[in-house]
Amino acid sequence: MGKGFFHVPKAVNEPIKGYAPGSQERNEVLAQYKSYFNGNVEVPLYIGNEEIKTGNTKPMSPPHDHKHVVGSYHLAEKSHVSKAISNALASRKAWANLTWEQRAAIFLKAAELIAGPYRAKINAATMIAQSKTIHQAEIDAACEFIDFLRFNVEYMSEIYNEQPSSAPGIWNRVEYRPLEGFVYAITPFNFTAIAGNLPASAAMMGNVVVWKPSDSQIFSAKVIVDVFKEAGLPDGVINVIYGDPVMITETVLASPDFAGIHFTGSTHVFKELWKQIGNNIHTYKTYPKIVGETGGKDFIVAHKTANPNQVATAIVRGAFEFQGQKCSAASRVYLPKSLSKEILDLVKSDLQSMNKPGSPEDMSNFITAVIHEGSFDKLAKYIDQAKADKNAEIIAGGNYDKSKGYFIEPTVILTTDPKYTTMETELFGPVVTIYVYEDADWAKTLKLVDETSEYALTGAVLATDRYVIDEATKALENCAGNFYINDKPTGAVVGQQPFGGARASGTNDKAGSAQNLLRWVSPRLIKETFVTPTDYRYPFLG
Ligand code: NAD
Repeated sequence: MGKGFFHVPKAVNEPIKGYAPGSQERNEVLAQYKSYFNGNVEVPLYIGNEEIKTGNTKPMSPPHDHKHVVGSYHLAEKSHVSKAISNALASRKAWANLTWEQRAAIFLKAAELIAGPYRAKINAATMIAQSKTIHQAEIDAACEFIDFLRFNVEYMSEIYNEQPSSAPGIWNRVEYRPLEGFVYAITPFNFTAIAGNLPASAAMMGNVVVWKPSDSQIFSAKVIVDVFKEAGLPDGVINVIYGDPVMITETVLASPDFAGIHFTGSTHVFKELWKQIGNNIHTYKTYPKIVGETGGKDFIVAHKTANPNQVATAIVRGAFEFQGQKCSAASRVYLPKSLSKEILDLVKSDLQSMNKPGSPEDMSNFITAVIHEGSFDKLAKYIDQAKADKNAEIIAGGNYDKSKGYFIEPTVILTTDPKYTTMETELFGPVVTIYVYEDADWAKTLKLVDETSEYALTGAVLATDRYVIDEATKALENCAGNFYINDKPTGAVVGQQPFGGARASGTNDKAGSAQNLLRWVSPRLIKETFVTPTDYRYPFLG
């Protein structure tokens, strides 16, 4: 604590810019896009105060134009991983002892840099690296990231403010120590905001971090590093390495000082990480904190009292924005027979009104490319399977082409089998599967929603009958960590809808909330007695 009980600035959500034709923000981001697209950036490892070029590089290409190269990044070897750990540990004492308001100021400054001078840069980089439309880039890389930083500073000060009471003659205090060791952050490709938040939230609470971004997000990860540097984050607090995830992870998890993992990505990777941590448990100095937000098979269930237009819009936005590559994207839908034709006709007409998938630089495109060839091939395989299967029918989309970019048309599969493979498996692409139920089977359908998937991330019910809404809310209690009524299941906003799921979807530590930050501290209770006893005998001894 410094010399005052400081109040942090009240966190407010960053307003979303519109990028309408002719607007200044649109011109700025397009100019930045062109400059990045025609440039050739080289991304080093960031370890301590060094920017390391190992010479072993991989090219970076936009998913919507995969033959075009926008730069390269350097791959770490085992020695670099060890170096990242030792630099983190060497920086720990100074960083952990810095007063909290100084840490807060760095991250508040980072938020303002993104809101201002880095906005076009972080958005353009996200359009190129992850093939996001400008709207998707703006709500992620700019707004959500800014919100994470601002709100987490507020939550941090609330946590520090949470103190025990004290009986007369004593003073109880809690200090929220950073973990003893370092935190390992592993981030996914799909959100620049998550990539920045996972290392930043742990660092904000006084921890030092080794951060491994996704290979498919390094172009925008570099802008995050630039922002943190300009905001004044000291060297060695967040050390950034890329390369073979298995080698990096094995090296990190073998360190006795490994104190916690902040992971977002797929379920099977997280389960493997948990197993490795378990196998190494005798190595560690402390029990590591394990935080992971993972996959989803997110649902929309509509009741016969729902408004068909609202259901269709929830499907189109919920399933296809950012090509369905949001962990929260709707990917299984349950429609009542009486409304199904009207809803499906509306969905089809919406899809027909869209351009064919293309580059985000053309701002009339709603759909761009999926992230990489592996994802493209997997999606194409499921689409082909649906074309061949008797219990499935493709009623919209179904075409794909990877000659220029990894383009998959938004695809709607109609199935007669509620347990059809694409009703159960996370595909992570612009493919939604619809099952039509008999109106009378509403209660049975809720049970089906509950039992069909191992995941429990997001879900939505659309209905106007309040008894029905109440019934669904109770029946689906354990199917989603984020449950939506009469809305799409995507688009959680920091400070309003803390995000995370249960079952196979993660530890539900709610990114962008005090609950998450509490995982990165180890509280120490200090009891001070003012008049210390000098005689062991209690009065009852006579
Ligand atoms: P991914 O699991 O392929 O990769 C995530 C990270 O793990 C990357 O940095 C990757 O390099 C690393 N990784 C991969 N294999 C590894 C291994 N064997 N050991 C250690 N690290 C390894 O996931 P992705 O494709 O980047 O992201 C999509 C997944 O993330 C989806 O399953 C999605 O649902 C999930 N996701 C969940 C949330 C959430 O909040 N629940 C948010 C975003 C994404």
